[in-house]
Amino acid sequence: MEDTVQKHGQDATICCHAGALATHCSNRGGGYSGKKAIWQASVYDFESLEDFEDASFVYRRYGCPNAEELGAAVASLEGAEAGLATSTGMGAIIAAVMSICKQGDLIIVNPDVYGVTYEFFKTDMERFGIEVLFESIFEAHILENILQKNLGEPSMGMIKRSVVVFLESITNPLVKVADISAIAKLCKNYAAMLVVDNTMATPMRMKPLLEGANLVVHSATKYLGGHDDLMAGVVVGSSTLVKQAALLAKRWGLTSAPFDAWLAIRGIHTLQIRMQRSWHSAETLSRQCLASGLALRVLSTSMCAILCIEVQGGLEGVKRAIKAFSLIQLSPSFGGTSTTVSHSATSSHKSLGVDLRRKLGISDGLLAAFN
Ligand SMILES: *Cc1c(COP(=O)(O)O)cnc(C)c1O
Repeated sequence: MEDTVQKHGQDATICCHAGALATHCSNRGGGYSGKKAIWQASVYDFESLEDFEDASFVYRRYGCPNAEELGAAVASLEGAEAGLATSTGMGAIIAAVMSICKQGDLIIVNPDVYGVTYEFFKTDMERFGIEVLFESIFEAHILENILQKNLGEPSMGMIKRSVVVFLESITNPLVKVADISAIAKLCKNYAAMLVVDNTMATPMRMKPLLEGANLVVHSATKYLGGHDDLMAGVVVGSSTLVKQAALLAKRWGLTSAPFDAWLAIRGIHTLQIRMQRSWHSAETLSRQCLASGLALRVLSTSMCAILCIEVQGGLEGVKRAIKAFSLIQLSPSFGGTSTTVSHSATSSHKSLGVDLRRKLGISDGLLAAFN
């Protein structure tokens, strides 16, 4: 209990000091603290060629002070060496994955991921000659079988190819929680890289790097930003891996815009306190849905503020429920200041197709409630 209190205390402290790095933005040598400034510039000036050579900031696509502060803030929260802020959550996933893969590699993806993430792996990665396997790898023995089949026995020194394993620490909408340390241990045995999308849990509940993941990505558009008014993403991990992702982001144009990064830091200042309230709201809503007879069952976990509500009467029941809510809006995103619902089958998970949704258990009668 004391540990938990101390941990939350530390997180709260990191949150409210996010962006308080004394960012040395001025290339003229000034030690300006960038805490409240929005460095809305596409280019920075120099007094001499020497200044230019040592400059931290040159051209906005390479990085800017606000983005640097956002990357550093999330790195502190996740216990990472370094962080990179990107234009969107998808930008973070693309920068992380594309910077560690090459043609001929294998990517094993838990299929229960955000719809556009699924499309990225299915459409783009396969087009680049990277084999993608969608397998339910939350069961460690399934992952072990796949790794063994594709890589051989690690003890025999027979590792045949590079592998990346990708999953969300908590799945949406079914709120299944990954056993990151067991999965990371397996990945390590087979020299596979583990990339975890920690958007749903937030670093207030899970810190996958501390459990052995290699890279963590976030859609800061959701809880980190917290106000439905920005788009950004973050990649965190070791300095070496984040640097590699940053170089790719710089070439591919995936870096975060100054104002979005500034807004995300403003959101992170209250992240810990907002998440506490969100967990509390999730509990209350779960009780009310069951007591009112609206829900057949509610899936929840103490690890996040998201509920999966199975509504009476399938799709028609979902339509009735959405009409009946007066304050809870239907919204295709989450993590803002009010409770929203989304219908996974027709929005976030539409691209998975009806067969895969059925296999995963994402029925037409499910509503995800984001608190
Ligand atoms: C929204 C979301 C993304 C994509 O983030 P964007 O900021 O919309 O690009 C990725 N993963 C998860 C779990 C998400 O919820």
